[in-house]
Formats: sequence, C-alpha cells, structure tokens
Amino acid sequence: MAGPDSDGEPRRGRAGFAGPSPSREVRNPSEGSEVERGGRAGFAGPSPSREVRNPSHGSEVDDAREAVRALVGQFRTHLEIRGRSGLLGVSGSSKRASVDAPAISAPSSPSPSFESSELEAGVAAGDRPPAGKLRTGANGLKLLRDEIGDCQRCKLAPSRTNLVYGVGNPDAELVFVGEAPGADEDAQGEPFVGRAGQLLTKMIEAMGYRREDVYICNVLKCRPPGNRNPEPDEVSSCEPFLKRQLAALRPRVIVALGKFAAQCLLRDDTPITRLRGGFRSYEGIPLMPTLHPAYLLRDPSKKKLAWDDLKAVNAALARVGIHPPRPPAA
Ligand code: SF4
Repeated sequence: MAGPDSDGEPRRGRAGFAGPSPSREVRNPSEGSEVERGGRAGFAGPSPSREVRNPSHGSEVDDAREAVRALVGQFRTHLEIRGRSGLLGVSGSSKRASVDAPAISAPSSPSPSFESSELEAGVAAGDRPPAGKLRTGANGLKLLRDEIGDCQRCKLAPSRTNLVYGVGNPDAELVFVGEAPGADEDAQGEPFVGRAGQLLTKMIEAMGYRREDVYICNVLKCRPPGNRNPEPDEVSSCEPFLKRQLAALRPRVIVALGKFAAQCLLRDDTPITRLRGGFRSYEGIPLMPTLHPAYLLRDPSKKKLAWDDLKAVNAALARVGIHPPRPPAA
C-alpha cells in the first residue's frame, strides 16, 4: 500500500501492533493536524459551515444547532439503514438484494456517526447476498476487474507497472481500504505488501483473522509517482471502481486506513485524528476510520489508538454473532 513507509519499525509479534492497555486514550484536541502525507488532495466535500455567533445568547444557539445537527445525522443514518433493510425485507435476514445496478451515488454531505442501536442494525444489514446473483461476491469483482481492464482513464496509467485491484475473500465480512499502491504494491500487483502492508497483516491477525479472510483494496488502483498524494482528477477517475468493489463485496464493516481513504469515502475533511475512534456510515455500512499503518510505522506510540479502533470493529461484529476464526489478541 501506499504511503511512505521508510521510517519507524513495527512492534514484533502477533500483537506487536496492539497496545498494552485496553483502555482508550483521551484525544488530544491539538491533534487536528493531518498525519499522513502533506495536504489534502482536494477531493472531500465541504465541511459544515460555521455561522456567526450571537454574543447575547451564543451558547444557547450553539447548543440548539448541535442538537439539530445530531438529530439530522441520526435521521440520515436511520434512513440509510432502513433503506438497506428495506432491500432485505427484514433486518437480519439472510437474504439480500443483489447489486445488479452497482452505480452508487456519492453522499452529498459528511456521513453521520452511528448511534449504538443503529450500528448493530447496520452490521446486521450486511448479510451475505443470495447465491447465484451476478455482480456481487466473486462474480461482481471479476466483472468489474474485466471492465477496468488495462485502464487508461487517468494520468497514472503510463507510469504504473501493475494495476493493483484488490485481494482477499470476495465474501469478506470485513474490508480494509487504503489510499493507493506504493512501490512494492506496484511491483507485485497486490495491495499492502510492503512494510506498511506487513504491519496491516499483523493488525488483521491481532483481530483474529488471516489476511485471506478479509478483503484489502485502495481508493486508487495505480501508484502515484514517488508516492505523492493522489490528485483530484485521479480520484474522480478511479473512485467509481472502489464504490463498485464495495457494492460487490457488501461487507459488514469497512475499515478506512488513514485520512485519505476515510475522507474520500465519508466526504468529510475532518482530520483522521478526530475521525477515528467511532463508526461512521458509508452507504449504510458501518465504517471505522483508523490510522494508516505507514503512519503507525512512523509513530509506533499511536498503535494503541488503532488497536482500540480494531477492537471496536470486532465488538460491533460480535453484536450480530460474527466472531473471528481465532481468538483476538488481548
Ligand atoms: S488510477 Fe484508476 S482510473 Fe487511473 S489509470 Fe489506474 S485504474 Fe484507471
């Protein structure tokens, strides 16, 4: 996977990624800065605008606005979940409509956080698609890969060695989405195989899964030269492929690795240090933003935060009876 990964060392062992204590750390309000590559790529939607405070009763007005925002967010999530559940007929059913028309419109505003009860419904709504349907699971992924072909849709095509589509279980409950291929990934045609990828594998194993149990892909399928930030035209050309991948996969939970993937999928330019730690909604699917493995290589002290996020993912899955094949690290 992408991202500079030349400095820092991952911790050793299966839980070498996990932090020593299960307790959550208190966020540092000053950690609003972006933590991976330099600036944003300009793809994210607008942030909620700030309005001028009335000095005479500013706090009351702000409280009311926050309450309205929270209600709107909850209502939007509720509608998304109901929409997905509507396709199912009954929430929690093993049947689900296929994604024969996989084009998905991007959300027009930042995705809301999940309330506790809605999170469970969102995970439950991710039941496996019925057998025999096209454009989901392995069939859907193959059809999309065939359609992408020797893609020349953006300026990254001439410099790539391999197009890096994605790897893993086509029926995965859990999908990890990163930014873009790096040098190792470009050379091998597989996402997350460099040092950051090795750390991601440890993170997945610490959760109790094998790499082949989950699905791993990136927003961009081709390497930006020199591991530079993806540019908006490249994102707009390639992101529809990711959306269709996710539509074919229909995971229970998505883990967005790093600010780029999280901001892109959520249309939210909040720094990853504030996005992480709580579930958001991507098309009604619970999405956990977390820190990118390349960032964790540079700052191993943040591994505990990422581990907290991944434990929350396991807990959300456990609420609907989905457990990893092996015991997770403590
Ligand atoms: S990055 Fe995406 S859109 Fe650009 S050439 Fe590669 S596959 Fe095509």
